[in-house]
Amino acid sequence: MIEVNTTALLLIYFLLWIAVIVVLWIRELLRIKKHSWSLSNGRLFHCDNCHHSFLVKDGTNLTRCPECNAICINKTRRWL
Ligand SMILES: [Zn+2]
Repeated sequence: MIEVNTTALLLIYFLLWIAVIVVLWIRELLRIKKHSWSLSNGRLFHCDNCHHSFLVKDGTNLTRCPECNAICINKTRRWL
């Protein structure tokens, strides 16, 4: 049988808790990085129909307005 005194047991308990917290922290940082938004002119759309401005996730040039469902074209985006 393994003999462990109380101090060693508490130390193992706290080290396990710190490891769990670090793993959850790294997971949260990766999740934030994956779902982060950045502002740029290529992502900003303006609906000419209802004058609603909105951001899109991917780098598309054509999308639908979330308010009125009209087709919006990003005129500020320039293609090479
Ligand atoms: Zn609209």
